[in-house]
Amino acid sequence: MSLRPSSPPASAVLISGGRVFDLDGDVHHPEEKDLLIVADRIAACRKGIAADLAAGKALPELPAGASLERFGAKGRLVVPGFVNSHYHSHDVLLKGCFETIPLELWVLSALPPAFPKRSTAEIRARTLLGAVECLRSGITTVQDLATIYPYDEQHVDAILKAYEDVGIRCVFALQVTDIAGVKSIPFWDEIVPPSMKEGLSGAVEPYAGGIDVLELVKSAMLKRERLHPRITWALGPTSPERCSEALLGGLGDLSRSRDMPIYTHIYESKAMALIARQSHAKDKGSLINYLQRCGILSPKLTLAHSVWMLPAEIRMLADAGTNVVLNPVGNLKTRGGVAPIRPYMEAGVNIALGCDNCSCSDAQNMFQSMKLFASLAAITHPEPGPPTARDALMAATVSGARTTGLAGEIGALKPGMKADLAILDLSDPSFVPLNSVARQLVFTEAGRSVEHVMVDGRFIVRDRRITSIDEAALREEIAELMVQLRRDLQGVLDRNQRMLPYLMEAHRRTWQSDIGLNRYIGTGNG
Ligand SMILES: [Zn+2]
Repeated sequence: MSLRPSSPPASAVLISGGRVFDLDGDVHHPEEKDLLIVADRIAACRKGIAADLAAGKALPELPAGASLERFGAKGRLVVPGFVNSHYHSHDVLLKGCFETIPLELWVLSALPPAFPKRSTAEIRARTLLGAVECLRSGITTVQDLATIYPYDEQHVDAILKAYEDVGIRCVFALQVTDIAGVKSIPFWDEIVPPSMKEGLSGAVEPYAGGIDVLELVKSAMLKRERLHPRITWALGPTSPERCSEALLGGLGDLSRSRDMPIYTHIYESKAMALIARQSHAKDKGSLINYLQRCGILSPKLTLAHSVWMLPAEIRMLADAGTNVVLNPVGNLKTRGGVAPIRPYMEAGVNIALGCDNCSCSDAQNMFQSMKLFASLAAITHPEPGPPTARDALMAATVSGARTTGLAGEIGALKPGMKADLAILDLSDPSFVPLNSVARQLVFTEAGRSVEHVMVDGRFIVRDRRITSIDEAALREEIAELMVQLRRDLQGVLDRNQRMLPYLMEAHRRTWQSDIGLNRYIGTGNG
């Protein structure tokens, strides 16, 4: 008989004396409490744990033989790790490359179908860098809707391995489509000369060679869905107008049979609403009707952006329990307009927040998202009222968790939940004097105070430094990779410059079209 090796003693961390943020408690002046973390979960959260230990009392939540690390958090704020509910790792290296340009021009300038195939090294480096930026600003879960174009299994593996190595929690989805971009953007097909059409691409393009997208997604996911406990899978049809009924229906079946979230983009720009009016007569010009007809309008579905949504469509989302994830920074940078925040709140739609692409927002920073979310109702509602700072924090944590399939596991600091948290320095000027934690988190702080970040019970950021990978080596590698990427970007920009008069003509026609609602302020004439 062979002896089974004994399992190693559990590791535990006691974070003591910090103010622990709780949406169900006093959000302005959170109490000082102690947090006991055993392995990957919060075992206890209350006052007096450290005092009990000092007095020699046994702690029922601490397993015998567990190694205990003590972490003093006096003068600090402990918050649940933020959930970045809408993000793409594919253009991380293009931050700062563009001014504020309309969405359809940005898509042509920044997204994978516009570029030659990237190296596996570049895929890994950009995934790591994006995760590092998220972590350093207190994001512990990221929903990555990744475009791999052209498709390459090695690239899927490189992304997942990067997430595993860096230690962030990831809800991963392959972003797919089966309708060409030129067919799904108003006026492109008729305005752009045939000789230039090759340069037109959507956010994602159908894979060449008759690949069955549904089968590809299924097989990629089934091979990898249980490779790492911090990485879970979701489904990512890019946007309804770029996906056939067969593809959306098939993904809906997969979502139901495997209990998986679905993420898609909807009505991010006026063009996306106009194409619905032009090409979805069967659904009365509504992509929400289309999603319902395809059987995927449900609580498992999360709609990114949702800027150009009609009041009747908002009611449909509320009735179906479908989530929206708002990305106010990216929507402004791509001149998309402002989402109807108050109508979503008043209808009771679950609202999460995202930071979107690195080249259209251009920051993975939930503080920026929260501040704009809480402020933008000013353009429609002059009277005081929601969203409050607490509403913004809820969107960035608990409501985000609801979109990931991890509700009850992440998004709050309660016993039994995953130990995903950030520790902020309350001596930072953002919090001096301390008038309201919630309001200063949302309206004052920009990320400067984030000192330590824990995911799954392990410090991934300690004293503002990533512990899991060598950041300096990553910077050096990226400097080398940028030589080729900058060259390729210049080629993309040169091509777009030649198409610009036609693209702008398409945009102007879109802007002049009446689609029954407006998400801009004024006319641009003062
Ligand atoms: Zn997006």
